[in-house]
Formats: sequence, C-alpha cells, structure tokens
Amino acid sequence: MREDRGLLVVVSGPSGAGKGTVCRHLLEIRPELISSVSVTTRLPRPGEREGVHYFFRTPEEYERMREAGEFLESASVYGSGYATPRRFVYDHLRAGRDVLLEIDIQGALQVKERVEQGVFIFILPPSMKELRDRITGRGTESEDVIIRRFAKAYEELNFVSRYNYVVVNDIARDAARRIEAILIAEHCRVDRNRELNRKLLEEVFPHDVSTYQ
Ligand code: ADP
Ligand code: 5GP
Repeated sequence: MREDRGLLVVVSGPSGAGKGTVCRHLLEIRPELISSVSVTTRLPRPGEREGVHYFFRTPEEYERMREAGEFLESASVYGSGYATPRRFVYDHLRAGRDVLLEIDIQGALQVKERVEQGVFIFILPPSMKELRDRITGRGTESEDVIIRRFAKAYEELNFVSRYNYVVVNDIARDAARRIEAILIAEHCRVDRNRELNRKLLEEVFPHDVSTYQ
C-alpha cells in the first residue's frame, strides 16, 4: 500500500483492559476516524444493532464469507467467530481515511503480516488487580468466564513486544489522547510523506527529482 494513503490503526490488548472504552473516547476526539464494523457469529447483546456494533451472521454464512476471501483477518474468540471485512477497510484507506480496528490479539497479528505499515497499539491495564476488577465490574460475565478471561489476559501480556506502541489505560480519556498523539506523529513520518516531498521538489525542477530518496 502506498504511503499517501490512510493509516490502518489496530488497537488490541487483553480482554477487560478497556479497548472498547478507550476507542469510544478516541472516536469522540477524532470523529473523522473510520471505525470498522466486524462480522461475528455471536448473538447480539441487548441494545446492539446490526451494522452498527457488528454484522451478525450465522456460522454457515460466516464460513462462506471466510472461504470467499472477504476477511482481512478472522479469529475465534471465546467460541465465536469474529472477522474484519477486507473491502470496507481497503476502500477507506485508498480514499486516504484513517481506519480503526479494535480487535483481539490473534487478529491483530494476522493484520500485521498483511499490512506492515499498520500502526499497532497495545492497551495495558494500570495493574493486574485493576484488570481483574474491570473484567468483574463489567457485570456481563459469569464467574467461570471471568476466571478464563483473566487467565487468558495474563498470557496475552506476552504479545506486547509484537506491537509498535503501548498505551496504559489509567484514565480512559487520557489514554485516548495518547493514541491521538501517536496518530499525529505517524502522519508526520518521513516514509508517509514522500509523495508530498516529491511534489515540492518537482515544483522547482519539474524534470529532475531523481536525486531524491
Ligand atoms: P475491553 O474492550 O478491553 O474488553 P472494556 O472497554 O469493555 O474492555 O472495559 C472493561 C470494563 O472496564 C468496563 O466496565 C469499563 O467501563 C471499565 N473501564 C475501561 N476503562 C476504564 C478506565 N480507564 N477506568 C476505569 N474503568 C474502566
Ligand atoms: P465482544 O463480543 O465483547 O464484542 O468482543 C470480544 C472480543 O472480540 C474483543 O476482544 C474484541 O476486541 C474482539 N473482536 C471484535 N471484533 C473483532 C474482529 O473483527 N476480529 C478479531 N480478531 N477480534 C475482534
């Protein structure tokens, strides 16, 4: 993918670290960011809407889409299928818009293989006690599920080294501001601005920009 296109921003990290909460704040302060809507085989929770929170599909339909190559990445999370629609993401990136994926670690690592210019951000809790309290406090899971999620989160901390940035979610709004700062810096990187630099050189010497790069 060329450097003058939008940024693919992947936010992931252990369950309960606050990915969803931080991303909601980020979208408030940067509303031009395009949030990808995933496909899932899990059932909608109360209040969740088709096409807004997820595209809810049967396991058969999900499998058909996967085989047809419609997913940028896909993963099984707690027994359900989750996937990012490839077309939606690439269309926005090509149009120069930044796209946000809030996905689990297995999915993020697949995206990293395919889109090496992506920006990979790992959300960490301020402490393991706080992580446990957040998983428990969400109130949507049984004790059994809480224990499994906490154990998985503990293992998942090992994957942090595969990411480009770490953001500690102490105060959600502050964490979102740090991600905003990362996006601003990423847009200023030399390798994302070659096209602009070339145009400036061409303005002066239209036929000789060969010395650049
Ligand atoms: P994830 O998407 O990583 O699984 P959520 O965004 O659902 O995590 O957050 C898990 C729980 O922790 C929720 O109850 C949420 O309100 C709470 N939470 C998230 N961020 C913070 C924070 N910075 N401070 C206190 N509670 C938080
Ligand atoms: P939930 O069912 O609570 O909405 O999401 C469960 C987990 O699935 C979260 O960790 C979330 O980040 C992850 N998830 C949501 N969408 C996707 C996706 O498209 N791909 C992958 N790999 N994970 C996803």
